[in-house]
Amino acid sequence: MTFKLLTLRVRQDQGEQFIKDLRAARPAGFRGLPVIDTTPCATGCDACVTACPTAAITAAPLALDLGACVFCGECARVCPAHKIAMTTEVAMASSARAELVVHEGPARRPPIDVAAAIRKAFGRSLKLRQVSAGGCNACELELNALANVNFDAQRHGIEWVASPRHADGLVLTGPLTKNMQDAVQLAWDAMPDPKFLVAVGACAISGGLYRDAPGLARDFLAKVGPLVFVPGCPPHPLTVAQALLDVMGR
Ligand code: SF4
Ligand code: SF4
Repeated sequence: MTFKLLTLRVRQDQGEQFIKDLRAARPAGFRGLPVIDTTPCATGCDACVTACPTAAITAAPLALDLGACVFCGECARVCPAHKIAMTTEVAMASSARAELVVHEGPARRPPIDVAAAIRKAFGRSLKLRQVSAGGCNACELELNALANVNFDAQRHGIEWVASPRHADGLVLTGPLTKNMQDAVQLAWDAMPDPKFLVAVGACAISGGLYRDAPGLARDFLAKVGPLVFVPGCPPHPLTVAQALLDVMGR
């Protein structure tokens, strides 16, 4: 069989592996954007607050911080009033940290609002340098997936680069440990202007499961301030893709 025929045969057998529309895709069974019902809690009930491993939930009124949530689903499971439900909505990132807090009421996608100058500069091509700052590597695996045949972010101009000197955006994962603070700063300083920071995962946004660990030094995040916060533990590649497409204005 010639190479051309073999290629056609493989194509026929495997079909189209790429996700045609990254905006429309919804992974089955995904635990995404939570929604909190308006029915009142039973008096004295704090089952969800107690069950949450990352203190993401506050009571009276009930609110859930996507920036701390690890999407374990325990709060929905233990609530006797079934007030909390996880939807399959993947678009959860926001440019404002406060917008990551979900309140009672209908599901609402957090907004991403970036300056027109950013969209003009990066709307057609976005080069990203990833720095892992003390996390578990699951975020990195999902970021890697963005470049695979399924998600194929390159078709939208999104590419990972090896050097911060070639990068427009620094994608930070992990809770930012003391051991990594100099490396993160060095990478940031090496990037040309204009540049921006993207905080990916509960660890980067809030410290996540490691929020009280003594080995963290998160001053860099406070000083630079992420342009976009991407929730998840780890975030689904579609969540990251949607956030980056929003930054680009695509
Ligand atoms: S799904 Fe999120 S808010 Fe609910 S218990 Fe798990 S970490 Fe906490
Ligand atoms: S956010 Fe979750 S998946 Fe990402 S590094 Fe932290 S613990 Fe790992």
